[in-house]
Amino acid sequence: MPDDGDSATQRDDRDAGTSADPRVAGDPKAVADHEFALLLTHDVDRPYKTIQSAYHAVEHRDPRQLLDLLPGRNPWWQFEEVMELEDSLGVRSAFYFLREKHLLQRSPSDWLDPFYWIEQFGRYEIETPEMLDLLDRLHASGWEVGLHGSYDSYDDRDRLRMEKATLEEALGEPVVGGRQHHLNRGAETWDHHRDIGLRYDASPGSSETTGFDHGYLPRRPFDDEFVVFPLTVMEAALPDPGDDFAAAWAECEALLSEAAENGAVMSALWHPRLFTERDFPGQRRLYRRLVERALEMGAWVGPPRDYYELMEHPEPDGGAAESRERNAKNHHRSDLRRPQAEDNKVKTHPNTESTE
Ligand SMILES: [Zn+2]
Repeated sequence: MPDDGDSATQRDDRDAGTSADPRVAGDPKAVADHEFALLLTHDVDRPYKTIQSAYHAVEHRDPRQLLDLLPGRNPWWQFEEVMELEDSLGVRSAFYFLREKHLLQRSPSDWLDPFYWIEQFGRYEIETPEMLDLLDRLHASGWEVGLHGSYDSYDDRDRLRMEKATLEEALGEPVVGGRQHHLNRGAETWDHHRDIGLRYDASPGSSETTGFDHGYLPRRPFDDEFVVFPLTVMEAALPDPGDDFAAAWAECEALLSEAAENGAVMSALWHPRLFTERDFPGQRRLYRRLVERALEMGAWVGPPRDYYELMEHPEPDGGAAESRERNAKNHHRSDLRRPQAEDNKVKTHPNTESTE
């Protein structure tokens, strides 16, 4: 479990928003005139298949996997496929980009830890021509580009600030929010987010379980403009659709029904590399069906940024915002300081789950 999930915290989660203006609380009926909402997100962890090709060749006794090591071959670069799929359904999503530390930037005591080697093999730079081109295309076509805070950054405000600034420089405009790598969160993570000008975090959730443990509606840990969107379903927490598609789909359908019955803001995370059908059979089809069914059921579907901008937000003086446009343009207000709300979930060590 990524979070302690004590009952008091969950009670607060569920109560969040019930006493406020429904547009401030994030009620989908009031915010978007839809019964419920499905927020679509993709954490960009490892867009390049490198050493994993050798692993898959051995694991699946498939030497053809080694062809993926040839220059120009990169099956895990699935951005065009994801964009095409979503475009065909008329929806957009968010892609969160990561700037992980190079192994040699870590303390030598970490150098022999296999965990950090796995991270190292997936590392990428945002400033390469193909990445910059991707950011341009995502931005120009209405997708959200957000921050995937690196493994240690949940507890390092300066590092988060640097990662946000370099992503914004590459993108050419401010980012609104994002999610922490491995869903890592500490006592002050949300303070850091708010201080550096992020407007939302989408981290609370689990890579092992699905559901609405963190509530049906967005949260406001500081009772101000900073919003938290809980993660309802990460693909890794579902039955493997390659083994049992019906079981994976049944769980997705149950979550959609619960969201519809409770007027919830649900969110989903599919890592882009899992759209590689050969390596992760069934995931692409499962994601498509999830979005299609949500649309059939009347959900508002889109990226968290767009939902955030549809919501009303409290002003620093406690009054309700009057203008949606003004909210959308106020991404960098940084004078909102308050002590951390006491109900934040506190972790004394980072989440070290294998799926991020
Ligand atoms: Zn990640």
